[in-house]
Amino acid sequence: MEHRVIDNLMRVKEKIEKAATQCGRNPDDIKLMAVSKMVGVEKIKEAISAGVTILGENYLQEAKRKIEEIGKSVQWHMIGHLQTNKVKQAIELFDLIQSVDRLSLAQEIHKRAKNLDKRVRILVQVNISEEDTKSGIESENAVSLISEIARLKNISIEGLMTIPPYLLDPQKVRPYFKSLRELSEEIERRGFENTSMKELSMGMSNDFEVAIEEGATIVRVGTAIFGERG
Ligand SMILES: *Cc1c(COP(=O)(O)O)cnc(C)c1O
Repeated sequence: MEHRVIDNLMRVKEKIEKAATQCGRNPDDIKLMAVSKMVGVEKIKEAISAGVTILGENYLQEAKRKIEEIGKSVQWHMIGHLQTNKVKQAIELFDLIQSVDRLSLAQEIHKRAKNLDKRVRILVQVNISEEDTKSGIESENAVSLISEIARLKNISIEGLMTIPPYLLDPQKVRPYFKSLRELSEEIERRGFENTSMKELSMGMSNDFEVAIEEGATIVRVGTAIFGERG
């Protein structure tokens, strides 16, 4: 039997609290994003009633439909691949774009943001495992990309995001989380303008506790809240 969203959510929150407390972190420093791709509006509303305040979506058209119906009483984050020709809509819809992985995309965001006299908040997505199937900038090019984006005044870089390889044993994912944290520390030391490394978006249903131990500030949880997709 499928559990109710509210029960799932409580379980996830308890695990977040426990993982944080055990490694000496304040649970309030970890934000829970409910990833709602392919999840219907009714279930999303259940999650919001149960206290979810951040929703993550992967596809622009799907997100647009849901945001128009559900509204902006919650934060909506873009976590999927973003095409340059969808930037105008994306910056109107989303509170944070977590999937910026190339300069051309950042330049388009800057241009559109400037037109709206707005400052757009982004995370830079890093391909920490160097798999060619994943989007994200390779680690060794991340500092250089961020140094370029940092010049774009209508963009505020607020941290890093990664999707590590899916591995059944979450402990095996730990080195990837650790690398992302170390990269963010290096970027922080560089002191780029318009840049703060306050957010580390990492950890999904299978491995968010390990991600918290390695410094995650945003965990992105879909299946453990809404059940299997599709
Ligand atoms: C789907 C997705 C998630 C959530 O994955 P689950 O394993 O269902 O928790 C998190 N982050 C991104 C970028 C995703 O696409």
